[in-house]
Amino acid sequence: MGGTQSEHKLILEDGRTRYDGRALDELRPVSIQAGVLRRADGSAYVEWGQNKVLAAVYGPREVHPRHLQNPARAIVQARYNMASFSVGERKRPGPDRRSQEISKIISEAFTSVVFVEQFPRTTVDVYMEVLQADAGTRCAGLTAASVALADAGVPMRDIVPAVASGKVEDVVVCDLNKDEDTCGQADVPCAILPRTGEFLLLQMDGHLTYDELMRAIEYNRRAAKVINELQKEALRKKYSIVTLQNNEITEQPPQEQPPQEQLEKAADAPVASNPPEGGA
Ligand code: UDP
Repeated sequence: MGGTQSEHKLILEDGRTRYDGRALDELRPVSIQAGVLRRADGSAYVEWGQNKVLAAVYGPREVHPRHLQNPARAIVQARYNMASFSVGERKRPGPDRRSQEISKIISEAFTSVVFVEQFPRTTVDVYMEVLQADAGTRCAGLTAASVALADAGVPMRDIVPAVASGKVEDVVVCDLNKDEDTCGQADVPCAILPRTGEFLLLQMDGHLTYDELMRAIEYNRRAAKVINELQKEALRKKYSIVTLQNNEITEQPPQEQPPQEQLEKAADAPVASNPPEGGA
């Protein structure tokens, strides 16, 4: 919410279409892939409009340093990082206040969805790397991390989608892009548990009336359902391939084993790689 003036109208004359052609309640194109990193316990890659985000999960595993251990439950340590090359103006590498805040809220969101009490004294480490940023990266990161957690087999209450709606030129719109985020009036990122409708994350930057906030939340609710289907589809796709491969293995006819006697005879017989000359 930079309050910057856009060079062009972000909401077209008809009041229903946005500069990038989307309807007011329309998401950007989203694609999700599960299990993209070999060394991680679980991983996912998300392309969301112009955003590109990679997530990796390790654990539950031993906590270092040990004084962070909780004897009653696992801790979830999320780290959100933006690559220097992910934005137009080079970002200084390393953690800053913004990435620390995002890491903290995502850690808290996952702490309430993972069955942490099943894994005392351990940590579940969640890494989110933003490779290309175009607004909504905390939501894209959380969405990817949730798929990575499921891919790692970490027991959770649900797979969590996140999305940010907001206000642009006095109109509430779903899933702000970079122009809309920079020149808009408000931004409301939410992470919503699909099964119960519980909010695991709700932030608001800017000014909205009560009705506008309710509309932004409603857009987020609807969009979260769409994102959640894509998350589940990504996991189904990865694990159905494994099942298919297994089926192929079991469907192959078992190799006939030559009886032991024949093996012994064959071992005694001279090796003939070419048929004898003039032979039958
Ligand atoms: N951004 C940037 N440099 C930064 C931080 C953010 O260019 O150091 C851009 C980036 O495109 C990001 C957008 O501003 O996606 C909006 O940032 P915000 O803090 O609202 O978080 P996000 O919407 O990505 O969750």
